[in-house]
Amino acid sequence: MMKNIVNTARQAFATGKTRSLDFRIQQLQALKRMINENEAEIKNALKADLHKNDCSAYSLEIMGLLAEIELCIDSLHDWAAPKHVKKNLMTISDEVYIHYEPFGVVLVIGAWNYPLVVALQPVVGAIAAGNAVVLKPSEVSEHTAKALEKLVPRYLDKELYPVVNGGVAETTELLAERFDHILYTGNTVVGKIIMTAAAKYLTPVTLELGGKSPCYIDKDCDIDIASRRITWGKFVNCGQTCIAPDYVLCDKSIQGKLIEKIKETLKEFYGDNPKESPDYERIINKRHFKRIIGLLEGEKAAIGGEHDESTCYIAPTVLIDVKPEAKVMQEEIFGPLLPIITVKDVDEAIQFINKGEKPLALYPFSNNKKVIKKIISETSSGGVTGNDVFMHFSIAELPFGGVGYSGMGAYHGKHSFETFSHKRSCLIKSLSMEGANKLRYPPYSQKKLDWAKFILMGKFSKKKLGLVLLPIVAVVAALILKKYRWQLAGRGLQLALAFQRLCFKQVS
Ligand code: NAD
Repeated sequence: MMKNIVNTARQAFATGKTRSLDFRIQQLQALKRMINENEAEIKNALKADLHKNDCSAYSLEIMGLLAEIELCIDSLHDWAAPKHVKKNLMTISDEVYIHYEPFGVVLVIGAWNYPLVVALQPVVGAIAAGNAVVLKPSEVSEHTAKALEKLVPRYLDKELYPVVNGGVAETTELLAERFDHILYTGNTVVGKIIMTAAAKYLTPVTLELGGKSPCYIDKDCDIDIASRRITWGKFVNCGQTCIAPDYVLCDKSIQGKLIEKIKETLKEFYGDNPKESPDYERIINKRHFKRIIGLLEGEKAAIGGEHDESTCYIAPTVLIDVKPEAKVMQEEIFGPLLPIITVKDVDEAIQFINKGEKPLALYPFSNNKKVIKKIISETSSGGVTGNDVFMHFSIAELPFGGVGYSGMGAYHGKHSFETFSHKRSCLIKSLSMEGANKLRYPPYSQKKLDWAKFILMGKFSKKKLGLVLLPIVAVVAALILKKYRWQLAGRGLQLALAFQRLCFKQVS
């Protein structure tokens, strides 16, 4: 069955219809219509999967997706145009450019935490780049997966953009097929399975994974603002956000104030009982619920800790005096637990961060920009927002992706278009000027090599050429002067006498 789906997509791609930019734009417009005309159904599915209310469903999934589609539609002609590049002396009269071409059939595998945007945003980039796309939404967010399976074929070309639903067995079957690119969003363990499967056909992969994204709060910082921003980033979607702050590093002297401020903020956001708040989500399923509760073992909750398995509710929880070797510090939490680990200064925080795998995001907070820049230059992560959380994600001009165990490759905006395109190097030479090619043909000689060095290794530029030519012109001029100085002197004398006669005539 998977073979048929992929073959059909490949045949549809081979017809060449996705080469047309107008066709791609028309498909993107249809996708936009799909979202707008079925907004209520999509929101219901998100509510059923994650208890997302309509506002957060719109602001954290639908809005970004519509903006991405709009950007692609507006920019596609510009992005897809050939990009002319700098030439060297040997190619000065030729056409040299990058041509963006689609890979072919792309597989997009989504995760469940933002099940709409994580599935469809890569699809937008893949369509814009002219690929056929097989979409595999996460089976864990089953309502959104079903909605996508039903809606996508109603709006998009069915053969080019099939949706496959199913679990591990179906994904495994899909992965046995040959794709031209795979973009996977999910955890690091499965990321390795994806890469292994891709290796069989040397298929390039983009892995959008997770990790333990740290916050560092400097002593010199507005703790009030920092704790509000971190509280939002940690507990939105019940902590099930790939770039959620995973834990906080701070000086022991500010831990107390931080907890007090987080408590105040939680009350402001979710009221006295978050369980009754329409704005507080739930854990996706019992398996994840049990995993997260397991991380609480032996830990001291300064805030929260309450939970209810029957509704997959876990209260916003802050853990204090957490030891680096604690269970909660060994894996990405992906739930509403915020451990605080005290460090004595920024250097110790940097050392701590560098001991772990490279995270997807990093959030340093300080009044002093130098501290933030120091952390950026002495650590590594997929992305950074200083003095806030998430916000680097919202800028389409910034590539979004991980590094090391938090992923490879990136997308969003033009970066998506580039991720799903092969950058083809093109040089179109003229059939004239064959003389210049003598340099590369046998018989070889030192003289030819010297010329080649001058032309190619001198990194030809008008400015440099000017600098090289100036002494040559000076030497040639000196030689001419030396050889013809008597004739020139005579000619000069004649000119001087003629000038003198002219002046004399005018005066008299
Ligand atoms: P998940 O369980 O939904 O898995 C993702 C996909 O992998 C699903 O489509 C599933 O069918 C497939 N899959 C699962 N096991 C498989 C197997 N053994 N073989 C083949 N395919 C398999 O999602 P998840 O992994 O629980 O998602 C959470 C993780 O995703 C977190 O680590 C989070 O940080 C990360 N994430 C990253 C981003 C990002 O943009 N970087 C976004 C969202 C989530």
